[in-house]
Amino acid sequence: MSRSGFRTVILPSRYVQGAGAIDDIGSFVATLGSKPFVVAGRTSFSEVGARIQASAEAAGSSLVGYVDSVRECTYGKIDGVITESAGVGADVIIGCGGGKAVDTAKAVADKQSLPVITVPTQCATNADQMADAVIFTEDHGFVEDYYLSRPPALVLVDTEVVGFAPIEYLVQGMGDALACGFEKPAYAAAMLADGSGSLAATAALEVNLKCFSTLMAHGVKAKMDSEGGVMSESLEAIIEAIKLMSGFGFGGGGCAAAHAVHNGLTIVPGALKKHGEIVAFGTIVQMILEKRPAEELERVVSWCKEIGLPTRTAELGDIDRSLLPEAAEKSCDPTDTMSNMPFVVTPEMVLEAMGRADDLSAELD
Ligand SMILES: [Zn+2]
Repeated sequence: MSRSGFRTVILPSRYVQGAGAIDDIGSFVATLGSKPFVVAGRTSFSEVGARIQASAEAAGSSLVGYVDSVRECTYGKIDGVITESAGVGADVIIGCGGGKAVDTAKAVADKQSLPVITVPTQCATNADQMADAVIFTEDHGFVEDYYLSRPPALVLVDTEVVGFAPIEYLVQGMGDALACGFEKPAYAAAMLADGSGSLAATAALEVNLKCFSTLMAHGVKAKMDSEGGVMSESLEAIIEAIKLMSGFGFGGGGCAAAHAVHNGLTIVPGALKKHGEIVAFGTIVQMILEKRPAEELERVVSWCKEIGLPTRTAELGDIDRSLLPEAAEKSCDPTDTMSNMPFVVTPEMVLEAMGRADDLSAELD
């Protein structure tokens, strides 16, 4: 942790993105160690495990082992993988898959002071580049954020793999990334006013704002190209926006109202939408709380509709509406990220903003 009032940027050491990038992983592994060990989910490993092995062998090393059974990032799983990887003398950890496998790999590497390479196989999260791991219980109860002592040594994004994964991942990733253009500035303003934490660097904020403009400019076309199997500049731009720009420089921190609203809504039975989808709705709520201009708000709501992201509570699933006040209450829990807003937000304000989002969404049908 840095001292209060310092501008802090946390980034992965290297970021590589392109079609077929996985076939180059061996040469990057060779710069970090000689005994790579893969931590993956089963589907991911069956998709790209053989290519990682072939590339490692071509560069003169070989996988010393792998775990392809990650379903949840728990401390139990992390300890088990540490025992396995240490037993075969692994000196570089490769995390391959979605957020859970990648987070497990990051924690496994960090606890052994080893470098970690992250290789996402879909676009639903930016966990690959973040310097933290979100720890859960076996039954998906949130435990805590585990902060890494050093960020990933390499984030390797093969755009053919993540860009042509099932389309819902790209949609969810865009929903999660949408928040950064609003949460990061809010967080930065709160930290500046409060003086208690590390400050955002202008460079990081600019990249987060660029993420937002990239989503607006390329999101709809990228979705179309992904569905049509066309690798295009728009799809590459959106993958970079999700994977690199959306968390740029914040190292796992920087959330505000959008994620707090998400966290509150997860207690409502029937809210079936995924993280990125609920965060997109939370972003609309944050914009209303911030009293953003109608034009800006309408642009984001219309964009969400085009992408297929929820813009009203009824689109979050078959939800029990009587629990929305409780969800609003939970989103303002003092331990949650609502406290990263630069002004006080009450549960009443959140509930009212949700209602206004519902109205606006209906107006723009
Ligand atoms: Zn998120």
